[in-house]
Amino acid sequence: MHRVTYALAVCPASLRLTDADVTTYAAIPNPAYDPSGEQWCELSHHHIGDHAAEVQSADVPDRSYWVLWRDGEPYRIALLPNCTVTRPSLVPGEDPAVCLLYGAHGGDHDFPDED
Ligand SMILES: [Zn+2]
Ligand SMILES: [Zn+2]
Repeated sequence: MHRVTYALAVCPASLRLTDADVTTYAAIPNPAYDPSGEQWCELSHHHIGDHAAEVQSADVPDRSYWVLWRDGEPYRIALLPNCTVTRPSLVPGEDPAVCLLYGAHGGDHDFPDED
């Protein structure tokens, strides 16, 4: 049976960090990102629970800083362990793909594109 996989729709929620938080998370040692004030939810459309966006990843193994929020409520930033769910690679012989989100996130798992 032929099966077509469509790109997952992403949650449309966004958030603006305070300048103080942008400065704080830009100043973390060995930063992976240059955090921007505007953050977009990275979870799948119609997920349950908090909205979430990765603010910074640094020299803490297997953990990243995520901003979590609900509509109309103040946000919080937490250092969370990565999601450990994997998917077999589409490429034979390659390691499995690991979900890009944090542990116990709402919505679908998000795997890197392997095209
Ligand atoms: Zn969301
Ligand atoms: Zn996941």
